Amino acid sequence: MENTPTGTQQHAADTQTITPTPTGFYGPFGGAYVPEILYKCVHDLQDAYLPIIRSEEFQREYASLLRDYVGRPSPLYYARRMSEKYGCKLYLKREDLNHTGAHKINNTIGQILLAKKMGKTRIIAETGAGQHGVATATVCALMDMKCEVFMGATDVERQHTNVERMKMLGATVNPVRTGNMTLSDACSQAIRDWCCHPDDTFYIVGSTMGPHPYPDIVAKMQSVISEELKWQLEEKIGRDYPDYLIACVGGGSNAAGTIYHYVDDPRVKIVLAEAGGCGIKSGHTAATIHCGTEGIIHGARTLVMQTDDGQIEEAFTISAGLDYPGIGPMHANLAKQGREQVLAINDDEAIYAGYELTRMEGIIPAIESAHAVAALAKLKFKPTDVVVLTVSGRGDKDVNTYLNNKHMAREYGNF
Ligand SMILES: *Cc1c(COP(=O)(O)O)cnc(C)c1O
Repeated sequence: MENTPTGTQQHAADTQTITPTPTGFYGPFGGAYVPEILYKCVHDLQDAYLPIIRSEEFQREYASLLRDYVGRPSPLYYARRMSEKYGCKLYLKREDLNHTGAHKINNTIGQILLAKKMGKTRIIAETGAGQHGVATATVCALMDMKCEVFMGATDVERQHTNVERMKMLGATVNPVRTGNMTLSDACSQAIRDWCCHPDDTFYIVGSTMGPHPYPDIVAKMQSVISEELKWQLEEKIGRDYPDYLIACVGGGSNAAGTIYHYVDDPRVKIVLAEAGGCGIKSGHTAATIHCGTEGIIHGARTLVMQTDDGQIEEAFTISAGLDYPGIGPMHANLAKQGREQVLAINDDEAIYAGYELTRMEGIIPAIESAHAVAALAKLKFKPTDVVVLTVSGRGDKDVNTYLNNKHMAREYGNF
């Protein structure tokens, strides 16, 4: 269904870092490969999003909601014990303290304002772990909008609490029974629904993926993370940049927000952690940048885990939020250029790192964020290095996963 590139400039610029070409390309990746019926809808959004986002009215409403509703700025916290352990100066960017428990609300707040300004009345969203579904249902309650969430039937079973939260917030949760009945299938179903309701419906995409302009919209909404880092670092260390930025990467939105204002600054090293699952050679992995090949998924050309004949392969990881067989086109390009160092972190390493942060700093991270923490052990720092690590979300939702796998955290799991 996704065969029509809506632009011809896809190879115009190989140097595109954080901002895509007018047709949505980051080097060879990106674009808008959508079915004919969505062509107008996607083009209307491409024409509308920048003027709206840049308008003073939007900026004022967005900033005020981020401050008073989400609770921003999120703190930048100096992690003393972890700094000593890893021989660097480690600062944690605390997205886990946001309303609803993760960075995802930064994006849903922005997109619902965009939807309202475009006169849309019905919101749809896909969700895997349910975090984006909850963040979307939350802003729909706030703005009194009708909300339908598509979620793989397997995930509906696995993520019971988030399903109940969405329903409590007034959303309809539609279990998707095609394919593996997980996130990738939920995305496909959301696109199908959008095809049936192109006029009144706004699709709130949850990560830096999907057809242009979504990767750019989501990156811009999350860029508040690095915007805050600039003045927070200036205040704390007297310079506005770190030596390292570390984040986990599923579709790539918290990572995009973390690096947004630093990507063209060569003084800043960027290290991303993707989910290795049982290991990149095990056949049970979600490490798309390591294992993917070029293809098209959910409207964009990017790296995809696929069979030789182009069938999407199921992703595997203990972390529901990183369980996606694609990757945002911006990151596919930055990784290809060598601007991002990408590490595959296996399930057991993430569980261990989650326990470590819990015991050493009193912060239970989301299992997704624990992948970023695990990257620390794989890097060699100088004592003067300033390292900023984004804790994308809190671990309340993952307590059972941590408990069921405490054998993976030898010295901490003995309780
Ligand atoms: C969804 C999620 C992620 C992965 O999504 P990105 O778009 O890659 O940021 C990471 N951490 C948490 C806590 C999440 O909920």
